Amino acid sequence: MKALEPLRQCELHVHLGGCLFVDDLLELARDVYARVDWHLFVSSYARAFGVTPDPVQLFRRALQQRPGGLEALRRHYVFTDQDGGDFARFQAKLNLAICLYRHWWLAMGREEEVNRRIVERHRREGTRYVEYRAMAPYGPDNPEGFLAFHTLVARTLHHASDRSFRARYLISVPRWAGLEAYCLVRQLLAEHPELVSTIVGLDFCFFEEGHPPAAAAPVFARVERDNRAHPEQALDIAYHVGEIYDDKSLESAIRWCHEAAELGARRLGHAIALGLDPEVALGRRPGAHEREPASERLAQIAYDLEHRQALEAAGVEVPVAALRREQQDLKRLPLKAVVTRPYSAARLAEIRRRQDLVLVRLAALGTVIETCPTSNLRLGDVPGPACHPVQRFLASDVPLVIGADDPGIFAVTLAEEVDWVHRQSGWSAARLARRLGRPQGWACGRQRHV
Ligand SMILES: [Zn+2]
Repeated sequence: MKALEPLRQCELHVHLGGCLFVDDLLELARDVYARVDWHLFVSSYARAFGVTPDPVQLFRRALQQRPGGLEALRRHYVFTDQDGGDFARFQAKLNLAICLYRHWWLAMGREEEVNRRIVERHRREGTRYVEYRAMAPYGPDNPEGFLAFHTLVARTLHHASDRSFRARYLISVPRWAGLEAYCLVRQLLAEHPELVSTIVGLDFCFFEEGHPPAAAAPVFARVERDNRAHPEQALDIAYHVGEIYDDKSLESAIRWCHEAAELGARRLGHAIALGLDPEVALGRRPGAHEREPASERLAQIAYDLEHRQALEAAGVEVPVAALRREQQDLKRLPLKAVVTRPYSAARLAEIRRRQDLVLVRLAALGTVIETCPTSNLRLGDVPGPACHPVQRFLASDVPLVIGADDPGIFAVTLAEEVDWVHRQSGWSAARLARRLGRPQGWACGRQRHV
């Protein structure tokens, strides 16, 4: 399986905060667990699981190697199938690592050691190139905190890099304040030219619902303009989209992926909406995806009218007169009014064609999909391996990379994710390697060299 080595050596979708494994937590907590402020973890865990955990006791028992001690700690941290795809539960478990991280950062001023530990694990695993992402607490009244955090992380990654291992950094910007955060990133690059080679992009992550890609258009435009003016500092954009989209129709979820690509995203995170069969998507909940805000339906109508030619060529009917009438009716409603549209077999067939159409378009644009198998199964509400979107992606020509997303909290390595895709595809290693190519070709910051 040597053919798959390049896939195991290049990680393009990983969040720094999700990289700590249980044994990392144990080591980091060993001397400090009684002093850490666990409030964030305790309150979020109690809300999500209905029981109040005692992290001090959990760490004490695990560190004293009491029977079941390590297992109990693992149960409170590792996010598994039993957690039912619930984002609040995911965040609660992640908060265990975040509380510890914050202690090393804010109380001890030694967060570099946490980041170094993460990098060292990747190096040990045989990874050669990693693009880390991280989100800092952000508030318009505290730009210094944002700048300080990202400068420190970038500096650690910069120092951790050598000829055999390169760590790069995508700064996660809050979707609700993308432009302001992006300006801070530019400020950081101007103040720290030594970090320019490490900081290669921006990442949009966290809750996507309520944040249409169109709202990020000013950021994309600004980044493109700045990239033209300063090609030596060009940044790429990685954009989580089509991962969790309960709040809208399947057409709208597909459209969001397409819009993010047209805006100029280099890579799309997950894009489950483009690869999960619509019938499977609807089977996840009664009434799933039947309702959406009028604003989304209006945006969908505008999209269908704009892309009428391509849609009709792909076998999707665009009834112009009916859509215009619907448009007029919807414009009389408040934008947040809920529109309900049940599905038919014909509509589902058209949705499959829409998915194919967008995958073809992504391939033409060179937009990459980052697929994260375990994350999608446990958190992304993909009901099972057989219907994982990666199957559709592999069958298409879309550029595709495999990532572990949050390997520590999912307790899964990139190599295991690659092997999973290999098994599920039923393909030979050579065929899979040929289909995916060298993932490093999809790294951020490549345009600086052309
Ligand atoms: Zn992610």
